[in-house]
Amino acid sequence: MDALKQVFFPANYTELFSVWSSDAFLCAGGTAQSRFQGKALLHFAPTIVALDALDELRRITRTERYIELGSTVTLNRIIALGKAVPDVLLRSLEQVADSQVRNLATIGGNIQCRLNSTAALLALDARYELRSVSGSRWISAYRFSVEKEESAVQRQELLTRIRIPLEKWEYSLCKCFVSPFDLESRGVAVLIARVKKNVLSDIHLVFAGHTILHDTATETLLIGKKLPLKEEYADMFLEQWLHYLSAVPDLEPLLCANLMNFASDSVHGMMA
Ligand SMILES: Cc1cc2nc3c(=O)[nH]c(=O)nc-3n(C[C@H](O)[C@H](O)[C@H](O)COP(=O)(O)OP(=O)(O)OC[C@H]3O[C@@H](n4cnc5c(N)ncnc54)[C@H](O)[C@@H]3O)c2cc1C
Repeated sequence: MDALKQVFFPANYTELFSVWSSDAFLCAGGTAQSRFQGKALLHFAPTIVALDALDELRRITRTERYIELGSTVTLNRIIALGKAVPDVLLRSLEQVADSQVRNLATIGGNIQCRLNSTAALLALDARYELRSVSGSRWISAYRFSVEKEESAVQRQELLTRIRIPLEKWEYSLCKCFVSPFDLESRGVAVLIARVKKNVLSDIHLVFAGHTILHDTATETLLIGKKLPLKEEYADMFLEQWLHYLSAVPDLEPLLCANLMNFASDSVHGMMA
């Protein structure tokens, strides 16, 4: 006889933590579970905890300084916000699969699977609210990625809110790399830069795929430099980025070349 299959729809956190056991699958949009199955009948975990009935996870709030997204806000709802959302995040999300998938896929699921939104949220210094049975905590997007890599056992924590600072970035570039063999996403690179009185005052260059690549030493080389950027500074930037990438263990040569081209195109845009 088949094992009993059940789907829970908790309406508040008390209910959620009472049914969310270690063998239950927490389901937001459910697209990650179906993504690689490729069969007529989809297989789902016997116990599913669906987040649909938690209304507050669908909320979007905005202040002058930041926008806050509930974790089950879908990617298409974020895209529909247009200029209310930093450009680099919009561009990263627009490249996710197709509109049907983006209607279901949530920002929380995307962050958990470290997909298209991750590089933009790291570059924008986003913060995440995590809730467990014992309370909630805020954590930086960067710390979240590090903790995920370091902890062998996944903590029973619900991602509830994503807070994104709304600062103005004059340069917002984003590139999604796909494998030439199976067309699967290899990760996303983003570069954002702020300009004050014609001087680069801040720059963030981040790649997120199976690993996170980010080098403060590369970014610092351009801070304080005037626009249009002199060729010697662009060269120094690219040399340091190559130096950093060359030291990353097991980095595929093709991805390394893609990341060099991305950085090169980005800084050349600042020389014009
Ligand atoms: C064919 C196909 C191709 C796709 N290609 C891409 C692509 O190239 N790039 C891309 O970015 N996306 C892609 N996606 C979409 C991708 O699956 C979603 O962007 C996203 O990763 C999953 O969102 P979801 O809401 O469906 O998550 P789910 O499938 O519901 O959950 C994904 C994981 O996150 C966990 N989770 C979800 N919400 C929370 C939460 N609030 N707190 C804690 N854990 C949580 C779940 O337990 C699960 O482990 C593709 C989807 C399909 C079907």
